Amino acid sequence: MSDEPVVSLSDVAVHFEKEQGFVESLFDDPDTVGAVDGVSLDIYENDVVALVGESGCGKTTLGKTAIGVQRPTGGSVTYRGQDVWEAKAGGGEIPYEKIRRSLQIIHQDPGSALNPNRTVMRTLTAPLKRWQPDMSTEDRRARVLRMVERVGMEPPEDYANRYPHQLSGGEKQRVALVRALLMNPDLILADEAVSALDVSLRVEMMDLMLELQSQFDTSFLFISHNLSNARYLAEKSGGRVGIMYLGELVEIGPAEEVLGDPQHPYTEVLRWATADLEPEAGVEEPPVRTIDVPDPVNPPSGCRFHTRCPSVIPPAETDISQALYSEIMDLRNAVAKRTLRIDESAARDAEVARLREEFFDESLTEPHRERIDRALASVVDGSWDAASEALREDYESICERRHPVLAEERHPTACHLYDDGESAEPSVADD
Ligand code: SF4
Repeated sequence: MSDEPVVSLSDVAVHFEKEQGFVESLFDDPDTVGAVDGVSLDIYENDVVALVGESGCGKTTLGKTAIGVQRPTGGSVTYRGQDVWEAKAGGGEIPYEKIRRSLQIIHQDPGSALNPNRTVMRTLTAPLKRWQPDMSTEDRRARVLRMVERVGMEPPEDYANRYPHQLSGGEKQRVALVRALLMNPDLILADEAVSALDVSLRVEMMDLMLELQSQFDTSFLFISHNLSNARYLAEKSGGRVGIMYLGELVEIGPAEEVLGDPQHPYTEVLRWATADLEPEAGVEEPPVRTIDVPDPVNPPSGCRFHTRCPSVIPPAETDISQALYSEIMDLRNAVAKRTLRIDESAARDAEVARLREEFFDESLTEPHRERIDRALASVVDGSWDAASEALREDYESICERRHPVLAEERHPTACHLYDDGESAEPSVADD
């Protein structure tokens, strides 16, 4: 593997307006959705990176940005050192046409990516005609037939004359793969490329992609919501798994490290949710405080996972158990969102006691009881903002104050459990 990245993303951000176009800053405009924020990633020759995360976490947007299909609103994307968007505008040393050929994509739904009125042969010879106009018709046809055979579609002459509706889902995906490979690409973005296939076909297709990846010296950026697929691809190829949460890359490293011994608490959640990754025996509850994913339009400050993280870090000077601190943080979220239900007909002290018991499993020791009761009394009085502010003053976590950056521990992880807090970036809460 070369030391120089083929594709390099540096501090990439992609923010969408709800309706159309782009805006400059997520935080300046509450109507934007932050698809991707501050992601840096190098992809090398013959490399495999599998990006995993829940739907809407920005992984597809990041993938499209890596291959120059999506323009970043911040940061840069380079191909062999050349800024992709500078090349697209006609500048730089590497022509954009070369970059475009070198960065290919396979979509989740190969059916929609193939022209229903074209035979496989026509679909596959078209790009060769465009990019290698000097190649003779016979050579083009021979090359296509060789490739069709290579991906296991035999006899190739028969498949070459078929239309997409005469192919199975797996066969369509193979045609899409051949079409990408015919360009001799440096990088193929495979966006949920095996998700639509029957389970029995997935492994076969993943094996085929990896086989061709090494034969063609191509790198793959796989996008998947399925941790098992990501692990299979990355483990088998010696590649990396990257975990994304709410638009950020929070952990990346070798599959066996990231999934065998996760560092980021969110990776633990994904691992728990993937039955065949053998979650620890006896752990029946997901390792997360709430399953509600925050609104990406208004992501939490600091670490975006802090509203759900069971390991959220208590203030240094506070003597408190992790369990109690998690409950207090949940109370803070409820007060901030004003979701506590108040019985206005009840006596104030009784209502404070009821709310306290509703929220906390065990009886509170001092000084927590006094602080919590004071805040709950403000809530009962209708002073939600005052309660929220008092709780923040007493219980603010570094996790909500400072934005963690990917820090090298065993492998890069963006979590204050693995940095000294000082190297982390101030979040908007600090501004
Ligand atoms: S920074 Fe804090 S909230 Fe975020 S994952 Fe780490 S411990 Fe949890």
